[in-house]
Amino acid sequence: MEFDHIIIRYGEISTKKRNRKRFVDKMKNNIKWVLRDFPNAALSASRERMYVILNGENHNEIIERLRGIFGIQSLSPALKVNKDLDEMKKAALYYYRQLSETPGTFKISAKRSDKDFPYSTDEINHELGGHILRNSEGLKVDVKNPDFNLRVEARKEAVYLTGEIIRGAGGLPLGSSGKAMLMLSGGIDSPVAGYFSMKRGLEIECIHFYSPPFTSERSRQKVIDLTEKLSELSGGMKLHIVPFTDIQLLIQKQIPENYTMTSTRRLMLRIADKIREKNDAMAIVTGESLGQVASQTLNSMFAINEVTNTPILRPLITMDKTDIIDIARELDTLEISNRPYEDCCTVFTPAAPKTKPQREKVNFYESFVDFDSLIEKAVENTETLTISRQSKKAEDPVDDLF
Ligand code: ATP
Ligand code: MG
Repeated sequence: MEFDHIIIRYGEISTKKRNRKRFVDKMKNNIKWVLRDFPNAALSASRERMYVILNGENHNEIIERLRGIFGIQSLSPALKVNKDLDEMKKAALYYYRQLSETPGTFKISAKRSDKDFPYSTDEINHELGGHILRNSEGLKVDVKNPDFNLRVEARKEAVYLTGEIIRGAGGLPLGSSGKAMLMLSGGIDSPVAGYFSMKRGLEIECIHFYSPPFTSERSRQKVIDLTEKLSELSGGMKLHIVPFTDIQLLIQKQIPENYTMTSTRRLMLRIADKIREKNDAMAIVTGESLGQVASQTLNSMFAINEVTNTPILRPLITMDKTDIIDIARELDTLEISNRPYEDCCTVFTPAAPKTKPQREKVNFYESFVDFDSLIEKAVENTETLTISRQSKKAEDPVDDLF
């Protein structure tokens, strides 16, 4: 016996009446993407749920992959058997044995929509429950608050069994909230910020500023690797690499040292905003966290943010560094971020950056420098890479039953 389908329950989507179809369609595409690697599996969707028909594919592998898909609230493996008591007993025991954690207590909840079914719900509960008890040790029945509730539904065409509820990634389907540009450094924070924005349904394109020859090829590769990691969540992602050396050198030359960091951030933001506009995105995401470093004090953000009206999303703003590191570890980005190669900001970091920069002052200092033409040049010379997750199979074999 093997599980033959997986039930997928939507989270918040089902409460968003008007947008539901769009949301469900996005999620369907995202699930199909994952199922590309399982050629026999098929997807079927209804208003409230989706089903993956396994057709012999391994349920654990598919569940593992589905758990990463945003918008899925929970998953349950399920069995369909004939309306035969012996088969139902076998299936119940199989389900119990497949559970990822052995329960201390359980119950059977039978339902009968087929009124001609030869056994009452009480009889089904009793027969299947007794069979599991006889074939297990230390397990008890608890009808009020069981660790494992095996639901058995006798319908006209067959009997369905399901019980284990596996938590999904939650959030909203990727792409359902529009598009934003992620300012991706080689650090720990920005990939985590990217993850959270994708979880909330944003499609992401990355922007990275680099300053050769002060930053090396390896630090550039680090950002490409981070983008590749993030693109595992979506299947593919653009990375815009902005040459920033000329601007940084001009800042070093023209701006008083304790304001170079503030000016650098303002110029990055101005360029990022132009690239955002060119790519029809509506927000910029950063990995800033309040008070973490000099550029992330409220005074700094106030001075830096002045250069644009575009929404700046900062998913990590209230998070502690230790918690961010834990998430980076889970996402598998930590190891890449920890590679020691220099970032364009670290190379040019002044000894004592202002933690309370003032808008008037930074505007005054910048007024003597013509940055506009260099900004245009940087945007023009930006290199765009399309990074895609490697899929085992290229064709799209999903048989859509919807
Ligand atoms: P991170 O760990 O993401 O590098 P950080 O703690 O090092 O963050 P900063 O270096 O002050 O903090 O950067 C704050 C944010 O500015 C980053 O999270 C990122 O969004 C953006 N940023 C910094 N440097 C770059 C860069 N070279 N290219 C693109 N974005 C950058
Ligand atoms: Mg950094």
